[in-house]
Amino acid sequence: MEIETRDIERIVRQVMAAMEQQGTIAGGAYPPAPGITAPRGDNGVFERVEDAIDAAWAAGRVWAFHYKVEDRRRVIEAIRVMARENARTLAQMVRDETGMGRVEDKVEKHLAVADKTPGVECLTTDAISGDGGLMIEEYAPFGVIGAITPSTNPTETVIHNTISMIAGGNSVVFNVHPGAKKCCAFCLQLLNKTIVENGGPANLITMQRDPTMDAVNKMTSSPKIRLMVGTGGMGMVNALLRSGKKTIGAGAGNPPVIVDDTADVKLAARELYWGASFDNNLFCFAEKEVFVMEASADGLIRGLVEQGAYLLTPAETEAIVKLALIQKDGKYEVNKKWVGKDAGLFLQAIGVSGHENTRLLICDVPKCHPYVMVEQLMPVLPIVRCRTFDECIQCSVEAEQGNRHTSSIFSTNVYNMTKFGKEIETTIYVKNGATLRGLGIGGEGHTTMTIAGPTGEGLTCARSFTRRRRCMLAEGGLRII
Ligand code: NAD
Repeated sequence: MEIETRDIERIVRQVMAAMEQQGTIAGGAYPPAPGITAPRGDNGVFERVEDAIDAAWAAGRVWAFHYKVEDRRRVIEAIRVMARENARTLAQMVRDETGMGRVEDKVEKHLAVADKTPGVECLTTDAISGDGGLMIEEYAPFGVIGAITPSTNPTETVIHNTISMIAGGNSVVFNVHPGAKKCCAFCLQLLNKTIVENGGPANLITMQRDPTMDAVNKMTSSPKIRLMVGTGGMGMVNALLRSGKKTIGAGAGNPPVIVDDTADVKLAARELYWGASFDNNLFCFAEKEVFVMEASADGLIRGLVEQGAYLLTPAETEAIVKLALIQKDGKYEVNKKWVGKDAGLFLQAIGVSGHENTRLLICDVPKCHPYVMVEQLMPVLPIVRCRTFDECIQCSVEAEQGNRHTSSIFSTNVYNMTKFGKEIETTIYVKNGATLRGLGIGGEGHTTMTIAGPTGEGLTCARSFTRRRRCMLAEGGLRII
C-alpha cells in the first residue's frame, strides 16, 4: 500500500492534536498547551456543560493551531456526505421527537443545509501592497462559540452551524432545544464521528446531554466562550443580548406577502401553496399572512383552492383560533400543542371531514385578526383584502412588527416592488416566488438556518462567525517594484 506524504502529514497532525488534547505534550512550535486534560464525553455529548466547554476549548485550540484550511475543507466535505446519507433518518427522528412538520420536507431541509451551506470558500483574504508595505486582512476564528438552537429546525441548525462555525476555525458548544435533545445528540455524535474519522480532533462540537437555562447562563458567563449565537424566539435572543457577551441573534419573523393588482395570481397561488405549507410552516421565513388588493383577491383564493388549499368558513376559522391560540392578558399566543401540525388534523379537530389530505388551510379575515399578528408556525394562511397598495404596505409593516426578517411580493409593477422593499426593510425579500427560494431552496444563493436580523449579520455563513484581523508587514516588505 502506498501512503502519500499528504496522508502522513495528516496522520501526524491528528496524533499531535490528540496528544495535546489529552495534555500529554506541550504545544511545541505552537503556544503552550491548554494545561488541562480535556474531559472525555460520549462523542461530544457531556453530562455537565462545564465539561462540554472545556472539551470544545481544548479541541478548538488544536483545530486553530494544528490544522490547515485544507483540512477544514476536507472535514466539511465529509460532513456533507454524512448529512446527505442520513437526511431521511434525521428527518424521521426529528418528526418522531418533536411531533412537528412533515418528513419529506425535512429530508429536503437536511439536503439543502448539506449541499448549500458555504464552507471555507467564503473566507477570502484582502491584500494591499504599496510603498508602505504589505497589508493583509483575513477572517480569523473567534474560538469557542456557544450556539442555542430551536425546536423547529433542530438537526438542520446543528448541521448548518457546525459547517459554518468550524469552517471559520472555531469549536462549538451547543445548547439545543429540550424538545429535540435526543435527535440533536444523535446528530452531534454523527458529526463528531465524521470529524474524527476524517482526521479532525475529537469534541470539536459538544453539548450538555440535558439542555437547561442554567447551562445557557454558564455558557454566557464562561470566559472560554467568545461568541454566543442564538437561533430561536425573541425571548432567547433578548436574553443573550442582555448577557453582555458578544451575540449574533437570529430571532422570530412573521413574514407578510403582498399580492397587488398587477400580479399573476395563478403563480402566486402555486408558490404560496408550496411555501406556506412546506414542513407545515415551521420555517421562520415562511409566508405567515397575505395582503391582497381587491382586484386580485377572488382569483388568488380560487387559485389556492385549485392547488388543494381548504378555505375555512368564518365559523371554522374561529373554531381554529380557539384551538390553536391562547388568550393571555388580552393578547393572543400560540398553543404549542398545535405548532407544526398537519392541516388535516386541524380539520379533524373541528369536525370537518373529506379534506384530510390538504396541506394548507386559508381564511379570508380582516387585518386585525389574531392569525395575522401572531407568528403561528402552522399551515393556516390568513388572507386580508386591502383597497390600495399603500394599505397593503402599511398592514405588512404592522404585521412584521419590526422583526426585519422576511417578506415577499407578487407583482409585475417594478415601482411597487421597490417601494415595498424600502418600507419593509426585511433581511430577505422575495419577488414572485415562495420565500423558500430566498433561502436557496429552489432559488439562487446559499442556505442558512440562522438568519440574523436583530444583530444584522443577515443570512449567516462561515464568514459571519469570524473576526476580521489585519496583518501588516511594514517598510515596503516583499515588494519587487
Ligand atoms: P424558542 O425560543 O422556544 O427556543 C429556542 C432556543 O432558545 C431553545 O434552545 C430554548 O431552550 C432556548 N431558550 C428559550 N428561552 C430562552 C431564554 N430566556 N434564554 C436562553 N435560552 C432560551 O424557539 P422555538 O420554538 O424552538 O423556535 C421557534 C422560534 O424560533 C420562532 O419564533 C422562529 O421564528 C424562530 N426561529 C428563527 C430563526 C432565524 O434564523 N431567525 C430560525 C429558526 C427559528
